[in-house]
Amino acid sequence: MERMKILLTVGHSILKTGVCTSADGRPYDGVLEYAYNKAIVNRVAVYLRRVGHTVDALICPELQFSRSTDEKDYKVQQANAGGYDLVAELHLNASALHNGRGCEVLYISDAGKEVAQRIQERLATVFKDRGVAYRNNLYMLTQTKPVAVMIESFFCDNSADCELAEKTDVALLIAEGIHGGDIAATPEENRPTGVLYRVQTGAFAVRENAERLLEELKKKGYEAFITTLDLAGQILYRVQVGAYSVHSNAEAMRDRLLEDGYDAVIVQV
Ligand SMILES: [Zn+2]
Repeated sequence: MERMKILLTVGHSILKTGVCTSADGRPYDGVLEYAYNKAIVNRVAVYLRRVGHTVDALICPELQFSRSTDEKDYKVQQANAGGYDLVAELHLNASALHNGRGCEVLYISDAGKEVAQRIQERLATVFKDRGVAYRNNLYMLTQTKPVAVMIESFFCDNSADCELAEKTDVALLIAEGIHGGDIAATPEENRPTGVLYRVQTGAFAVRENAERLLEELKKKGYEAFITTLDLAGQILYRVQVGAYSVHSNAEAMRDRLLEDGYDAVIVQV
């Protein structure tokens, strides 16, 4: 198997104003596109490195850019300077009526089409197969020198698609598609276990302290919430992120939070 130098990029960013430039499926029982992909990108990299590829993951800095076009300059420059064989950008789809479903991978070159088809094949084992699509109007495809694909793994604003994603190691499917073969995941990495995992970033006796952390996390695009625990009359306010039936999805979120400078431990619900 050919060893590649790969750049994984996460689509979109959070602007200075706190506005996230990605689709937001949360009002429709879905997920925030940007936060979802930010949470899985390192896991995709781990899987690809396991089979010998060299992988960098690129996420735009948060609360720094004034306009969404700043994302383009930031990513394209690094994509073209790194001597990469492949650039793969992670996205999720969304539709006007929130009823769109399935996976789709976008390409512009013949070489890109081959990679896109491999990824599409893997994602389509779980999500509705929308096929690969040629696109000549997206800067990550038109302005990058390496072979490039954009992956729309599923619809972030469709609860059925998001439920499927919750039970799936999407990062593994993407990695196997890029690699062009199976990658051995350890059993606990990708098996739905019937238990639910959350990532806890703090536990406070004072509710205001929990709320402060909650607001900060939400501003950064995390799906955070507060749960309470009664310890013999002493209420503990716990700030947690996500709800995962696949342990590796919880691990991906934990890694992301740790990298962002937060405490993060996986807890079983
Ligand atoms: Zn997108």
